[in-house]
Amino acid sequence: VNKIRYKTKIAVIGAGQAGLSAAYYLKKLGLEIGPGFIILDEAPHPGGAWQYRWPSLTLSTVNRIHDLPGMSFAETIDTSNPEVQASLAVPHYYDLYEKKFDFRVYRPLKVETVYLHQERFYIDSSKTLFSALGIINATGTWENPYIPEYPGARLFQGEQLHTKDFKTAGYFKGKHVIVVGAGISAVQLLDQISKVTTTTWVTRRPPQFRESAFDDAAGRNAVAMVEERVRQGLPPLSVVSVTGLPLSPQVMDMKERGVLKRFPMFSEITKDGVKWEDGKEEKADVILWNTGFKGALEHLKPVLPREENGGILMAGRLATMVAKEPRIHLPGYGPSASTIGANRAGAAAASELMDTLGLK
Ligand code: FAD
Repeated sequence: VNKIRYKTKIAVIGAGQAGLSAAYYLKKLGLEIGPGFIILDEAPHPGGAWQYRWPSLTLSTVNRIHDLPGMSFAETIDTSNPEVQASLAVPHYYDLYEKKFDFRVYRPLKVETVYLHQERFYIDSSKTLFSALGIINATGTWENPYIPEYPGARLFQGEQLHTKDFKTAGYFKGKHVIVVGAGISAVQLLDQISKVTTTTWVTRRPPQFRESAFDDAAGRNAVAMVEERVRQGLPPLSVVSVTGLPLSPQVMDMKERGVLKRFPMFSEITKDGVKWEDGKEEKADVILWNTGFKGALEHLKPVLPREENGGILMAGRLATMVAKEPRIHLPGYGPSASTIGANRAGAAAASELMDTLGLK
């Protein structure tokens, strides 16, 4: 196949919060879009993974969306209107952001694989072959949903869905749904689904509810813990999984409605439901796995050194640098998997990678 070839210095893969922040700083530090750096993204539109979020996720139900550097979110939309859908507002913001800084993102362009040849990284997609001296990989986690393995999963005749598949609660009407998971998504979806049908909530560990509102100190501690892990080459935990769940009015209401009765994980999946260790069984039409995401890093397999436990040894000011391949940075991975974390990680990645490559 005759692919279009293009040479640049730094390839930014992914145009979500982390990729756009990195692009902002690359530009600020003197690189020019095109010959200096390029941005590639698989999704059809601006917005990173936000374009796929369910319609009921509004500006009042998200945790918080931090401004990208150099342009405020509030400038682009009425952020005080709690009914505004995150899946519309954030993509609109990113779209204006890309235009303001003239980022000209290549999309939709899925990077299939990245390999190294004579000190250049080759970034291969179906129609183009880019080459670069360094990579800022900001591909997030949305494309890599995680579902744990349980015996019998293949026997189940109902539907197994993941957070990623959720669109509206109405879809579940008349079906019995087993909601798995103790994170924010699990609780939010359980709330909505339990208003239209019967549910059973199962979690691996007892869910941790936090009396206090989410405060910055709790957030910082959680991030520090995840950063500590990746600096040792351990697989990261999700930042949210260590912050606990706020006792919001929504959660209080769920308690009152009796839908927060939590069961431990079942031990196997059967033809028509699930079964616990003590022999108790329950029929279900749907198992909804809210069991998180992992880094979407498959395309980096040939160039990304992994530890024996599957983790990646990270280094650098904010742990965005791959210790054993400092020409690759991973903003948005591990401790920086939040909009604020991705902002800072993008800045660190841009600056450190330019240092490593002698581009400053
Ligand atoms: P993404 O936004 O996922 O962007 C990655 C981009 O990379 C995508 O556009 C994708 O198309 C592209 N990509 C992936 N693979 C490839 C490939 N092979 N080739 C080319 N392009 C590729 N964080 C908050 O701070 N506040 C919140 O309120 C909040 N709510 C959340 C709600 C949900 C349901 C979830 C799942 C997460 C939430 N988060 C929240 C975390 C959120 O994911 C991060 O904050 C942040 O937006 C992630 O940014 P990112 O740039 O790392 O990834």
